[in-house]
Formats: sequence, structure tokens, C-alpha cells
Amino acid sequence: MRKKQPVLFVGHGNPMNAISDNSFTKSLKKISENIEKPEAILVISAHWQTKGTSITSSDDPRQIYDFYGFPEELYNVVYQPGGKKELAKYIAETLNKENMTVTGADYWGLDHGSWAVLKHIYPEGDIPVLQMSLDMGLNEYSHYNLGKKLSFLRDMGVLVIGSGNIVHNLREMGHETLANPHTWAVEFDRYIADSIRTGSHENLISYKNFGRCAELSLPTDEHYLPLLYIAAMQDKGDKVEFLFDEIHHSSLSMRCLKIG
Ligand code: ZN
Repeated sequence: MRKKQPVLFVGHGNPMNAISDNSFTKSLKKISENIEKPEAILVISAHWQTKGTSITSSDDPRQIYDFYGFPEELYNVVYQPGGKKELAKYIAETLNKENMTVTGADYWGLDHGSWAVLKHIYPEGDIPVLQMSLDMGLNEYSHYNLGKKLSFLRDMGVLVIGSGNIVHNLREMGHETLANPHTWAVEFDRYIADSIRTGSHENLISYKNFGRCAELSLPTDEHYLPLLYIAAMQDKGDKVEFLFDEIHHSSLSMRCLKIG
């Protein structure tokens, strides 16, 4: 009997984490210890924004180096697990029956929202990985609702991972990884963490009600939205575990959590 998979949200932050050895990457390396090996992984990445929702549909997705001006070493990282065309098709069909518009896309592959963290979580790269995009035409409620419809994947042994950052303000970044965090970053990160802990999903969806701290923490919302999918997949009785909670470069929450 297959055990139901948990769901994960990982902060990914600076792409350099893909080749760094720090407290964050050390914590990523431990995540898989308490999770039964999944049949496949579905990553909802902040770095794939589309009109309508898309899902990677190739058995051999390409690795995408979607960042500029970084050291060559980062462009030499090879992390190329297979995909799962059949599963992509099944997910799209299931969601379309629920009146969601999801289409297969073989032009996209795995961007750094996926591979820069999976490289640490599952270094062998032997589990098929699919990516799902963020439909930028949806509002917060609709993203959450779509997340709920993905819950069936947990019973199929698919590990769903949201990859973004709860606080993501690139203009207010400090140079050092462990530079003092901004007060508004700490406050917003704590507010969201408390809302996850207490299952207050309404707060997560209506995060903009938190005012100025929310505005400064998320000048744009694409790094936050993957969290709504993960929260939506929470079942009654699921345990919430925070796996990492530092704020890096003053304005990037690297908080990672597991539900279930
Ligand atoms: Zn990012």
C-alpha cells in the first residue's frame, strides 16, 4: 500500500544556492530522509508564468538556465531527471474535467525553481519531474482552488513542491547572505508562518490585507503564489513542519515547510 505523499514549499532564493554549501542547502539535503521515495515530483515554480496553466509534457524535459550574469560554474550544473508524459496528460485531463484549463507544454522544461533545489533534495535525479506554471490571469482564490484540485496527486505517490519565496524583494537585498533582515520581512514571514501553522488559509489567500509589510515583502506575487497551492493541499489532521526559517540577503525568506 502506497503511503500518501506530503507536500512541500521550498524557498529557493539566490540561484547560487544550487552550488553553495550553506545552512539552507544542508537543510534541503535532509528533507528526503522522512519521505517515502515518490513516484514522480510536480514542481510549481515561480519562474514559469503563463497565460492559462501549463504542465511540462516531455519525457525528457530540458534543463533551463533562466538567470543572467552568474559565474560559469552555475551554467555547468547538470541536473536532468526524466519527465512523465503520461502523468502530465492524466493531470491535464483530470483538471480539465473540473473546468480548469490546463494544457501540456513541451517547449518548457525544468527552470532553476526546480533544479536548483531538487539537486540538493534528490541528488540522484532518478525520479521523474514535471513542472506546472502559474497562470498570471488567475487571482489568489483561483490559484488556491486549483491547488485543491491537485490533492489527488498525493494519493498517487506524487510529491508536489511549491518553489518560490514568502518574502521576495530584490530591490531591498543586502549583499551578505546573513545580512540583518528588514523588520517588515521578519513580520510578514512570521505572519504567514503563523497562518500556516494555525490553518488560517483565508489569511494566506488575502495576504495583501497585511498592508505595508506585505507590499514591501512582495512587490510582485509570483514567488508567493506557489505557497497557495501547497496550503490548499493540506488535509485535516496533517502535521505542519517548518524545515528552515532563515531570511537571507535581508529580504528573501528562505522558509521551507512540509505538510502531511
Ligand atoms: Zn526565484
